[in-house]
Amino acid sequence: MISDNLTEAKRVLDSNNLVAIPTETVYGLAGNAYNVEAVEKIFALKKRPHYNPLIVHIATADQLNQVAKAIPEAALTLALEFWPGPLTLVLKKQSIISDAVSSGKDTVAVRVPNHPLTLELLKRIDYPLAAPSANPFGSISPTNAKHVRSYFENHLELILDGGDCERGIESTIIGFENETPVLYRLGSLALEQIEDKIGRVIVKNQNNDASPASPGMLSRHYAPATTTYVTDEIEKLLKAHSDKKIGVLLFQHQLKTVVEHQEVLSTAGDLTEAAKNLYAALHRLDSMKLDLIIAEKLPDTGLGKTLNDKLKRASKSANL
Ligand code: AMP
Ligand code: MG
Repeated sequence: MISDNLTEAKRVLDSNNLVAIPTETVYGLAGNAYNVEAVEKIFALKKRPHYNPLIVHIATADQLNQVAKAIPEAALTLALEFWPGPLTLVLKKQSIISDAVSSGKDTVAVRVPNHPLTLELLKRIDYPLAAPSANPFGSISPTNAKHVRSYFENHLELILDGGDCERGIESTIIGFENETPVLYRLGSLALEQIEDKIGRVIVKNQNNDASPASPGMLSRHYAPATTTYVTDEIEKLLKAHSDKKIGVLLFQHQLKTVVEHQEVLSTAGDLTEAAKNLYAALHRLDSMKLDLIIAEKLPDTGLGKTLNDKLKRASKSANL
């Protein structure tokens, strides 16, 4: 069922079942983070490998000590600056956080999401919510209630409808190694904004599939079922595939070339607007039975870096 009934959401969660929740980033598949049975249901429904830990959602930064300990000064600075908001902090976990949530790591990923419905829900319950994105493992994240329904149909008692996600891209994940801030995943909070507050953040090799710092860093992730290429030479690629049914994903300007379908992310050339529209555009393109999706590389600054990273993970390398 899709509804905005918070009483019902609390009832379902209190009985250790799952509710899809809206956040400003993407929709989450939420369960009681303190209940292993609920947490296991998340992994089962998403078909998520157990090595991939979950993000824990709390109501306010005041609750941080309940789930995390030995919190570095820089982490506190970031929490106070950006919460509620699209920033996840990876910190040493308190023992109340089970290995089921942390995938056996001694750390926990935690954030305060910025969505009025979910914040109100978090205030009404007396446990945090473990919630990864509400999509089957590896597929495109959902940015509205209908996307969630198309993935999980009758397997969810309740999808809490909070409209379209404001940001549309996952949270940025920052961890700490010996108190040094490390980027674990690019997301909807630009790295520049974080570095403005705490100085230099280390960016690790992001494509080490054998041992990803964070599973969001797997080289192929967030992928449409349709073969997708990302390129800065779109016309050349179109020519090379002129016999195919093609959909294109563009930043600002439509193409004059005739193709089956065009998606423009922001006619104003605004990266924040492009981020908000990216996954919905990919969902639409992926449902059109195309032979190929060709995405245009975005300007590689600020949020554009995040969007190019997501596109790269959604795509194969183009063979011209
Ligand atoms: P999702 O909510 O589906 O976007 O996935 C949550 C992301 O948070 C995944 O990429 C996880 O790998 C990452 N994550 C959660 N807990 C940790 C942790 N303890 N250390 C590093 N990354 C984490
Ligand atoms: Mg995910």
